[in-house]
Amino acid sequence: MADSLILSRRDLDFLLHEWLQVETLTERERFAGHDRETFDAVLDLAAEIATEHFAPHNRKADENEPHVVDGKVVLIPEVAAALKVFGEAGLAAGTLPEELGGMQLPQVVSKAATAWFQAANVGSSAYPFLTMANAHLLLAHGSQEQIDTYVRPMAEGRWFGTMALSEPQAGSSLADITTKAVPQDDGTYRLTGTKMWISGGDHELSENIVHLVLAKIPGGPAGVKGISLFVVPKFLPEGDGLGERNDVVLAGLNHKMGYRGTTNTLLNFGEGVHTPGGAPGAVGWLVGSENRGLAAMFHMMNEARVGVGLGATALGYTGYLHALEYARTRTQGRPPAGKDPAAPPVPIIEHSDVRRMLLAAKSYVEGGLALGLYCAKLVDEETTADTEDARARAHTLLEVLTPIAKSWPSQWGLVANDLAIQVHGGYGYTRDFPV
Ligand SMILES: Cc1cc2nc3c(=O)[nH]c(=O)nc-3n(C[C@H](O)[C@H](O)[C@H](O)COP(=O)(O)OP(=O)(O)OC[C@H]3O[C@@H](n4cnc5c(N)ncnc54)[C@H](O)[C@@H]3O)c2cc1C
Repeated sequence: MADSLILSRRDLDFLLHEWLQVETLTERERFAGHDRETFDAVLDLAAEIATEHFAPHNRKADENEPHVVDGKVVLIPEVAAALKVFGEAGLAAGTLPEELGGMQLPQVVSKAATAWFQAANVGSSAYPFLTMANAHLLLAHGSQEQIDTYVRPMAEGRWFGTMALSEPQAGSSLADITTKAVPQDDGTYRLTGTKMWISGGDHELSENIVHLVLAKIPGGPAGVKGISLFVVPKFLPEGDGLGERNDVVLAGLNHKMGYRGTTNTLLNFGEGVHTPGGAPGAVGWLVGSENRGLAAMFHMMNEARVGVGLGATALGYTGYLHALEYARTRTQGRPPAGKDPAAPPVPIIEHSDVRRMLLAAKSYVEGGLALGLYCAKLVDEETTADTEDARARAHTLLEVLTPIAKSWPSQWGLVANDLAIQVHGGYGYTRDFPV
């Protein structure tokens, strides 16, 4: 089989096995059911599904942004079809515990599989990866009832999840959020407010959407110390199915420069468009304890930050592989030592400046992939290392590295793609090449 232009399996194998020694994780109880063969099988499956079901509609999804018709978000049909294959393959539950139908994979192997989807089609892949991070948060901070209600259908790929932190007036400074959650006699809360930028915030791709929402309970402390976390589903769960429509509605779509296939939404909570239980207000359930919401939300945010960094790396990686392939096949000019016009032109990879560009791009994307997978392995260490000391060390290292794992590849993955465009010369300026 020809080498993939989506991602390098050789590089992934090198990082996972020769560098991170992920097979040693199988000595731990949580991963004892795995071995090199099962890890390889997951990566093979990811590569196959990414190549056959995600990559083919990457460009089409980019060119046909989500739009709203009669209040519903319309996406090209290939997105739902690809996500169905993803869910049916069990990949939505890759890292989840076996009792929830998961594969109980180490994070590091799961993130390596994730990179295939991000490189193939970053827009479509965001839905399941947000959902997985949402499920991980609920597993860490939710009640057993919340886990049973929300994580199971997410593990089955039927419900998707979001994180709703940002507001139009409060992005970097979450202390300034104004979404309000008022306690009710039945133990639920009613939320009102507006959330901005919510990825995957509305669509028809899943039966339900599980929003994890930051809001303030009136009378609580000012600033971030008064932020609580709520689970607010689009449809209220009822038995094993769906009940009333909750009072959370799409107010508009944001039109981004990238990740275009991922809907990005302005959501109104508690506008009174729907009246669950006969009253306006979005029904929510507290996750964890009151006023401890931001700390809990960091569980999902941190996973998303490493995921965003890996996404940027993956985009740079596939750009680099396409540039490498182009440089091997595009002939132009002759080497300085052989200027005979009668000699045939050489592949441009033989020109040292083209090599410089390719090597620079290669170093950025290989470095970004290494950083992302290293962080994912730290998550495994943080949760399953044998000693308290080792777990604490992994936790501290992750705190330092997580913002870097998001921002460094986001900056240098773009530079890698800039170089990939330049390797294509004037052709790189057209929209005919996937760079
Ligand atoms: C594609 C995309 C997807 C997103 N998905 C989600 C999502 O799913 N859920 C969600 O809740 N949010 C999401 N966000 C929102 C994202 O978290 C915010 O954009 C981010 O927090 C920044 O907020 P802002 O855009 O309001 O910028 P601002 O906070 O207004 O910042 C503007 C500029 O000022 C700088 N700045 C702000 N404060 C300071 C300061 N104190 N010191 C120095 N510089 C400062 C910032 O660094 C930035 O350069 C998404 C955003 C994007 C672009």
